[in-house]
Amino acid sequence: IYQFSPRSIVSDACVSYQTLETLNAKVKPVVDELTKETDFFSYYRLNLFNKKCPFWNDENGMCGNIACAVNTIDNEDDIPKIWRASELGKLEGPSAKHPGKKTQREKPQRPLQGLLGENVSENCVVEYDDECDERDYCVPEDETTSSKGDYVSLVRNPERFTGFAGEGAKMVWDAIYRENCFQKSSFPQSASLGTSSLLQGPAAQDFRNVLHSAERQQIYAQHHQDPSTSFAQTGLENEDECLEKRVFYRVISGMHSSISTHLCWDFLNQTTGEWQPNLKCYTERLLTHPERISNLYFNYALLTRAVAKLGPYLQSYTFCTGEPDQDAATKAKVLAVTQASSSVPQIFDESLMFKNGEGPSLKEDFRNRFRNVSRIMDCVGCDKCRLWGKLQTSGYGTALKVLFETDNDSGEVPALQRTELVALFNTYARLSSSVEAHHQFRAMAEAAKREH
Ligand code: FAD
Repeated sequence: IYQFSPRSIVSDACVSYQTLETLNAKVKPVVDELTKETDFFSYYRLNLFNKKCPFWNDENGMCGNIACAVNTIDNEDDIPKIWRASELGKLEGPSAKHPGKKTQREKPQRPLQGLLGENVSENCVVEYDDECDERDYCVPEDETTSSKGDYVSLVRNPERFTGFAGEGAKMVWDAIYRENCFQKSSFPQSASLGTSSLLQGPAAQDFRNVLHSAERQQIYAQHHQDPSTSFAQTGLENEDECLEKRVFYRVISGMHSSISTHLCWDFLNQTTGEWQPNLKCYTERLLTHPERISNLYFNYALLTRAVAKLGPYLQSYTFCTGEPDQDAATKAKVLAVTQASSSVPQIFDESLMFKNGEGPSLKEDFRNRFRNVSRIMDCVGCDKCRLWGKLQTSGYGTALKVLFETDNDSGEVPALQRTELVALFNTYARLSSSVEAHHQFRAMAEAAKREH
């Protein structure tokens, strides 16, 4: 059961579990400090309640547990002054309008001199994130909805066990994994794709070689023991897929693993009423499924690469809450994270993806499918799970945008909204605590084994 070897290589990323755990010992303290102790990164704004599930009637799947509830910030006095609607109104005038994609692209960081002083950029005060551009892996908000959503304190609404389960949860996970079937698109704009491997020649062979053979054997064994296990769930069907399709699957499975890790780590013991780690939960959901753990570590490598790549861009980013001292401290904390994440070079090579002739159409399909996954999040019938589901899909979407939409010649990163940055760094913090929890669960499992 516990065939976890820290020296094994995480397939599709050129790095071992051990290297990632060593890296995480540096990353975790700084990313925790950033996401827990700065206003900029601990408040998230999203449309949590007023978007309907676009795929099915979700009324029956609603979670009635108190643990599913989210406390939104109803009193604007609780958020930094500069983000309040009255302040935005002042800056944009009484009939403030969405500036539209064109204006946003022309002046993504134009300083509002005279109004806010030097070194304060527009991205501080006006959140334009209600509209997608074609390079986004996120969901376009309904432009007819004027609501800008709610502010939520992520610190006061931690991701943990909620009791959300059963048919409602199953429908959502099934719908998410269906997006992985690249041939049978449920997304009308998706291109129809062939099955042939995207990577040809030596590059393709390299990637097959890094698939860890022990992991493959275990997946086969699992399938033979229980043939009802679908290949979609084991990840096996992806083994002979091209890199891009495999990466898509790994991102969603790794996200699922991370969510499962947190709910098992911060689990409510319904007998004692205490919140504590639940080893049985972790053993059943993760420890006995090494490919799920591999996907979790793969996501950690992917996000590490995206955060490291953002480092130079963030050097000149203004983290604006209206308090210059606080903003400088936030920037120092962000740069501590990007620096820590840069300490392992060659962690994931995004330049190998979307390369050959089929590349552009495959990329569009990949992006559309990922947008669809984020749309499915509106079907999650538990507010707390929906909050973290939306935040994490947006965090992965931002990472994918940074990795695949950066202009490799000029090094220019696409402009990022505050919410995208908040989602990215909080998703990184979630993965970081999953990696740490996995480490601790492993020790608990070994101790339990010795006792028997
Ligand atoms: P599930 O986790 O629902 O899994 C369904 C099936 O998917 C499994 O039977 C297995 O075959 C397959 N599977 C499981 N894990 C993986 C993986 N990593 N990779 C590939 N296949 C896999 N509950 C909470 O308590 N707190 C939360 O914060 C929370 N957030 C959620 C967010 C979202 C977006 C969703 C959809 C659900 C969330 N849930 C949360 C519910 C939770 O994820 C489970 O659905 C629930 O605990 C029921 O678990 P289960 O054992 O039935 O299997």
